[in-house]
Amino acid sequence: MRRLLSLKPQWSAIAFFPRFKSSTCVATGEPTFLEAVDIYFEKAAKLAAATPDILNQIKACNNLLKLQFPLKRSDGTVQLIEAYRAQHSHHRLPVKGGIRMAPNVEANETMALAALMTFKCALVDIPFGGAKGGIKVDPTKYCLLEKEAIVRRYTSELVKKSFIGPALDVPAPDYGTGPQEMAWIKDTYEQLRSDINGSACVTGKPLEEGGIHGRQEATGLGVFYCLREFFNSEDCVNSLGLNLGIKGKSFIIQGFGNVGRHTSTFVQEAGGRIIAIAELGGGLVDESGAGLDVGQVQRYQEQHGTISGFPRAKTVLETSSLLELPCDVLIPAALESQIHTGNAARIQAKLIVEAANGPVTPPAEKLLEEKGIIILPDLLLNAGGVTVSYFEWLKNLNHIHFGRMSRRMEEHGKKELLNVLEHQFGNGNRLSEEVRKVLTKGNTEADFVSSGLEETMLVTWEKVKNTAKQRGCNFRTAAYLIAIERIAACYKVNGIFP
Ligand code: NAD
Repeated sequence: MRRLLSLKPQWSAIAFFPRFKSSTCVATGEPTFLEAVDIYFEKAAKLAAATPDILNQIKACNNLLKLQFPLKRSDGTVQLIEAYRAQHSHHRLPVKGGIRMAPNVEANETMALAALMTFKCALVDIPFGGAKGGIKVDPTKYCLLEKEAIVRRYTSELVKKSFIGPALDVPAPDYGTGPQEMAWIKDTYEQLRSDINGSACVTGKPLEEGGIHGRQEATGLGVFYCLREFFNSEDCVNSLGLNLGIKGKSFIIQGFGNVGRHTSTFVQEAGGRIIAIAELGGGLVDESGAGLDVGQVQRYQEQHGTISGFPRAKTVLETSSLLELPCDVLIPAALESQIHTGNAARIQAKLIVEAANGPVTPPAEKLLEEKGIIILPDLLLNAGGVTVSYFEWLKNLNHIHFGRMSRRMEEHGKKELLNVLEHQFGNGNRLSEEVRKVLTKGNTEADFVSSGLEETMLVTWEKVKNTAKQRGCNFRTAAYLIAIERIAACYKVNGIFP
């Protein structure tokens, strides 16, 4: 303890990474995304049991790598590609965070997303620091071969600079990327490094490349678990003047990509009505009153590359206006800063569920809360993705899939137990084969993943809910507070090297 105290002043001597001008900014005077994360952090930091020097270290982004490399396009021209990897915190290793491909990628946005990853991992108690990557391209403007070249070159640059590796920094999918990009990253890494744990250098891979069952839908399922718990809590629904349960409630989704599609599917399965979907280039409004059929919309999107024109709904071109329709729940699942001072006053939802990262700016949050709207924060709500990524990383390090050693053993044990029970108490009656099958089924990898995800989301939701109540703050501040205090405890025990 004495050693730690004597080291304290050195924290303030650490050089923090400089911030750059410009970031996603929606309405005039609105904070940038990075400033917004800082504002939310500062609000919770005031309540945290941590010293200012440690808080400064927690807030700072440790490393930012900027890359510029050439791409030879299929028409023979050469284009300069700009890309980033930000490592926000190394209090736990490896650092972890997705890779985004979008035309508006820039340094501050990447650092903001990396900071959110630090707090998210700490909140859901996953032993990773936070990171994020971004490649400044519109992926829809490149053919498959060009995209592969971009991703492979980006990965090779990360390898050269030691910014990727199972023990160092582990990327995952984010906006504009998916399993295919993760497979290219894994393959490139393994071409360049002889590492027996190489496949754990990235998560969100296709199953056949070392991915895990359930990663694709994990973020949406995590969103759903929290929603379900919120609507099963009398305190929560009473505060909004609603009745218990998701069934019959009306939902609006912004963004029908990975997170939005899966979230809508789980909500619909639980009886929620998706009354509108906002997408780039056109959104849909349900006119039947029963809610949109998410599966049908998805099939239409796969065939046409857009949801616009889906025949069993009204297409609306001014898609941002859809966020302002009356509904019980609004789920932004697209990008940051979508709800800002320019539209917050017109939002009519009772509950906002942040499936995207940073969709509500701090001034908008204030306006929404003044109107009695409750916000379930991104740190908690979209943590399902990194949770299942953690399971995938563990699977890769173990070189064996979950359930392989235990499934049959479990089934044999259950069968023996049933035989004994039937023999003792069955009076000569036997259970049908169908019932025996259900009762004796051993756990598969998918079972382990959904159980681990549900456990993580439910435990964390309870902690956030109780902290908010005990500390008299909103759910977002409670989530940041839990994360900050966990990271602070880690720094305090570790001390400073050298
Ligand atoms: P995605 O690229 O699969 O889908 C995003 C969708 O949003 C796209 O279809 C895009 O057209 C749409 N969109 C973009 N701007 C829009 C706008 N202004 N209005 C309406 N629609 C718009 O991305 P994703 O993986 O679903 O990520 C969405 C958000 O969730 C991001 O903020 C991301 O950081 C966050 N997130 C993703 C994961 C994950 O596992 N993929 C995990 C945690 C958080």
